[in-house]
Amino acid sequence: MSDSAEHPAGHGSPGNDLTVLEPDVNYVCQRCNACCKWPGDVRIAEGEIAPIAAYLGMAEDEFISHYTRLRTNRQGLSLIEKENHECIMLEAGGCRIHLVKPSQCAGFPNKWNFPGWRKICEAIPVPAGDITV
Ligand code: SF4
Ligand code: SF4
Repeated sequence: MSDSAEHPAGHGSPGNDLTVLEPDVNYVCQRCNACCKWPGDVRIAEGEIAPIAAYLGMAEDEFISHYTRLRTNRQGLSLIEKENHECIMLEAGGCRIHLVKPSQCAGFPNKWNFPGWRKICEAIPVPAGDITV
């Protein structure tokens, strides 16, 4: 869920300088899974390791060795990807760890995004306050 030729460097990551937030709008995810197929880091914060490992029924060190790698900037962990660049947690039915997915995943596109994101994301805008995403 990050950079590619289609998504210039830096655009597809939380913390990029190009996020445009819309306080009056909530974008409701339609589970198209497009954002799970973008090449790049799926950042895992330190506090997210234990709940994800527990959800998968794994020990934390087992989860780390099986499913994570260093982020591109080597400052923290990312989920690994499949050969086709999809996130390793993407299955036919959607995200395997949806209930405990990383905040990077839960935060897109309402908490972070990048120019052009609406062309590749099917989330539907609703007035803020109408629904909790
Ligand atoms: S956030 Fe957008 S791109 Fe990602 S699954 Fe939801 S609708 Fe699709
Ligand atoms: S953890 Fe789940 S929501 Fe996040 S990129 Fe992977 S499959 Fe998608």
